[in-house]
Amino acid sequence: MNSKSIETAYLFCPRCGTEAVAVGSVPFRCGQCGFANFFGPVAAVGGLVINDAGELLLVRRARDPGKGKWGLPGGFVDRDETIEQALIREVHEETSLQVIESQYLTSFPNLYDYADLVSPVIDLFYLCRVGDPMQVRLAADELTSYLWVRPIDTHLSEMAFPSNRRAIEQWLRSQ
Ligand SMILES: [Zn+2]
Repeated sequence: MNSKSIETAYLFCPRCGTEAVAVGSVPFRCGQCGFANFFGPVAAVGGLVINDAGELLLVRRARDPGKGKWGLPGGFVDRDETIEQALIREVHEETSLQVIESQYLTSFPNLYDYADLVSPVIDLFYLCRVGDPMQVRLAADELTSYLWVRPIDTHLSEMAFPSNRRAIEQWLRSQ
């Protein structure tokens, strides 16, 4: 299935129902009622959780996008939530680990392919220290396994998202 960019799905104005004259334009603007949709990017957060041995936590994804590939714990930022709150919440939801210290690392654009529609995302990456790295318990519906590792090419080539790979590579270069 070839995925299309999210704006191509706006064939009609969602407010007044008028047919779109320029399908696929960004932002979507309705000439009839003035409704506009700017299409993001949506903010997401990724945690580079490092243990005392200097190893990184990789998690294997149970679901698409990127099913079976490696990722970093993280996810979309909820409304009324700071990036830092999202980081703590997502790392805990996915791994049960408690982030006790975090430091902003970098950001990279990402694309999220869902139901054959691709939405723009901005991923913000943080280095994280957690309370007890031995206490990983994965959210089974989201993740199948995990690994503490100094990532090498075999891991990096199996990352679900290029943005995650670039963040890890940036961290490795800074070592
Ligand atoms: Zn309209």
